[in-house]
Amino acid sequence: MNAPLRVTIFNEFVHERTHPAVREIYPHGMHATLKSALESLLGQGVNVSIATLEMPEHGLSEAVLAQTDVLLWWGHAAHDLVADAVVDRVQHAVLKGMGLVALHSAHASKIFRKLLGTSCMLRWREAAELERVWVIDPGHPIVDGLTTECFEIPHSEMYGEHFDIPPPDELFLLSWFEGGEVFRSGCAWRRGKGTLVYLSPGHETFPIYHQPQIQLLICNAARYASPRGGLYLGQGRNIREPLSPIASGHIVDESLHRR
Ligand code: ZN
Repeated sequence: MNAPLRVTIFNEFVHERTHPAVREIYPHGMHATLKSALESLLGQGVNVSIATLEMPEHGLSEAVLAQTDVLLWWGHAAHDLVADAVVDRVQHAVLKGMGLVALHSAHASKIFRKLLGTSCMLRWREAAELERVWVIDPGHPIVDGLTTECFEIPHSEMYGEHFDIPPPDELFLLSWFEGGEVFRSGCAWRRGKGTLVYLSPGHETFPIYHQPQIQLLICNAARYASPRGGLYLGQGRNIREPLSPIASGHIVDESLHRR
């Protein structure tokens, strides 16, 4: 049997404590709902830990990341309060193979923008409108188990194009909104050895993370982003000794390689 997938959920955990409307939907924090969803869908196959903004190092110490296969990231109100040193640490963990699943407003998080290198900004409108999520790559592992071509979120926040991201390596969901916009709502990229997934549905004043299709997508995304592949070093190395003899007899001017 495979070892359980080690998932850490980072939730900034601000709105659930400051806004009654959000607390009503997520009384124990959004992380608790996501944790239950992962545990009910994956059972013994997952081991979930929680990290929040107020914990030392936001709960994302070197030791925690070393024990994390996939990090889920929720942030909205406090992106700027995430320490740059923690962002750097998460970036390095991703490059070395840890998966990162960025949820909804995490499009504006420091870590998402750092990994993608663009503004990651978009059109948005909170009008409790219908969102229709279309599966545009039915063979993608993250949509595994969805049984319809599309599904609806009755009340959603509109996120619309243009979404300023680098072209996704993989695009599997496209959303249409009642007000007219469209949005690339399920995307994946590789960064170093790691996999980065973005799932846009999930605004905190609507019960979107209670919806079975969304829970399934998040669960699949966590599994999909889990570390895989071979040896990754990710750093420049000057190989002075070739693996087999080189005939040129070239003499290196080492001063060219120094500043
Ligand atoms: Zn939102």
